[in-house]
Amino acid sequence: MGLIRLLPDILASQVAAGEVVERPASVVKELVENSIDAGARRITIEFQKGGARLIRVTDDGGGMDRSDALLCLERHATSKIRESADLAAITTMGFRGEALPSIASVSRFRLSTRRQGEGADEAGTLIEVEGGVVRNVSDGGDAPGTRIEVADLFFNVPARRKFLRGEQTEASALLGQVEILAVSHPEIAFTCIRDGREIFRLASADELAVRLRDLHGGEFLSRMLPVPPIEHEGVGVSGWIAAPGEGRSDRSLQMTFVNGRIVRSPVLSMPLREASEGVLPKGLHPPAVLFFTLDPAAVDCNVHPAKREVRFRDPALLREAALRAARAAWGQGGGDLPSRESNSPEFGPGSDPLFPPIAVGRHKTISLGYALQGELPVSRIRESPEGSMEGVSGIGRDHQEDSFRIACHYLGRLAGRYLLFQQEEALLILEIRAARERILFERSLTRIETGEAVESQSLLIPETIEASPAEIAWTETHREVLLMAGLSAEPFGSGILKVDAVPAGASTLPTREILKGLLDDLKVLPETSTLDLRGREALAASVARLAAAGAPLPDSEVAAVRLLGELLSCRVPYSTPTGRPTISQISPGELSRRFQA
Ligand code: ADP
Ligand code: MG
Repeated sequence: MGLIRLLPDILASQVAAGEVVERPASVVKELVENSIDAGARRITIEFQKGGARLIRVTDDGGGMDRSDALLCLERHATSKIRESADLAAITTMGFRGEALPSIASVSRFRLSTRRQGEGADEAGTLIEVEGGVVRNVSDGGDAPGTRIEVADLFFNVPARRKFLRGEQTEASALLGQVEILAVSHPEIAFTCIRDGREIFRLASADELAVRLRDLHGGEFLSRMLPVPPIEHEGVGVSGWIAAPGEGRSDRSLQMTFVNGRIVRSPVLSMPLREASEGVLPKGLHPPAVLFFTLDPAAVDCNVHPAKREVRFRDPALLREAALRAARAAWGQGGGDLPSRESNSPEFGPGSDPLFPPIAVGRHKTISLGYALQGELPVSRIRESPEGSMEGVSGIGRDHQEDSFRIACHYLGRLAGRYLLFQQEEALLILEIRAARERILFERSLTRIETGEAVESQSLLIPETIEASPAEIAWTETHREVLLMAGLSAEPFGSGILKVDAVPAGASTLPTREILKGLLDDLKVLPETSTLDLRGREALAASVARLAAAGAPLPDSEVAAVRLLGELLSCRVPYSTPTGRPTISQISPGELSRRFQA
């Protein structure tokens, strides 16, 4: 007895039309979502040539009988909704009945399927479709469940095929998609095979933590905190969020799921960012895997053809839930909703020695900039040849240090992290690492701009490091770019990268940290091996961040003053390339306010 019904016309028109299939990754998404909806316990994803040559998804789900198998290729054939009312409360991943016919119309498509739990003698079904034309229907289908092969995607639509990016880029996108699906359903076992090579096999896991560990390694998990499950006016939240200080410059490690579906929305990401003030440096995003559950009727999934966007009936509710969840994880008394006040720098774990309240953007860098320029001989230094570091150290450094000593009196080092200077009656606080980051950024950028790679340090013994399939694919594509950054890495068996050389400035850091740091920062780069300005800046910023983390503390007054001098001779001295302040000033007025004088 068939399960699939044709959508009545009215309903069909309620389902917004649109493109579902953009690239191999979107095919994988639709096929795997169907397998999930079919109750699969194990899903195997195979692909060749980034998915453009072949994608094969095999599941052990419910399967289809002959009539359903034929029907599922008709437009708007779905077993998941029957009437308009169902559309208002969707609980399955799919519901539009568009994916299979769309995919089959732009590929050489083979579906073999067999119902679960029927007599062993019943034949399964094999259907072959080429560019939307059914070529063959016959007995077939081996194990119960469904296998769908999509070969030569867009073979009959050259314009679309041309739009596919390079093989590695498509492969990374595809693997990224598989990763999202695997995280969203830890209870399902996933196997992934690329060009005949198994790249991962994830066992079914009872807990999200196990799935995250299997995907990213224990190291990753150790940098995350569990979100105590919370419930706020019908919205449940659970998951994991970055430990304090573990921020990333982009949101690629932020996965937010609403009723099991990945949803990227400012409604969910902005509160995380808001809550992270005082927990993460400004401008960084907390990696997070968060699951929101709420009444399906309060979410409209039918906004985007690829179901990437949703509309919330009450976005404020979701926003509050996200904020509470993050604050609960970070021990910010997640109970009551924080008032608007919480945006002020006072909020946050002020007692944490890593985040003294003083460090959090109390002073706008811009006003500090004016103040400093008035007091210090900055302009003269900037006029030194090209304003480069060499300029500073070459042209009468003594003279400069003297000038600074006059204008700025070194007071000492605080908490292993700050240099304090007295500047007339004001207090200047320089954050050592941020200052170094700025200085090293400008220095590295100069090298990269002139086509010279960042200085590299070979490892005596190459190190092997676990990496996710997406990371390995990225590394293969961007080998040249990584060499520019001073890192030499290549794939070394399944799930492993071998590193031979690291950026010299960062060589005191664990190799793993250097590799992951670069990959995280550079993931955003486009595929090309020649870098545009943005790419060169990202590269320099990443190297600088790592080298700054590995550099020793200034150990004398001379070193401290030199660091200040080098910072102030930078083109943009007041913030790191990612926008963290490097230096902060507390004016006499500010001090008297604090003491209510
Ligand atoms: P939708 O998922 O929106 O219903 P699709 O075009 O993706 O539409 O799939 C059409 C129908 O085909 C599904 O509703 C389902 O009944 C059936 N189907 C697709 N893939 C599978 C699968 N792997 N196992 C069992 N049934 C499937
Ligand atoms: Mg579907």
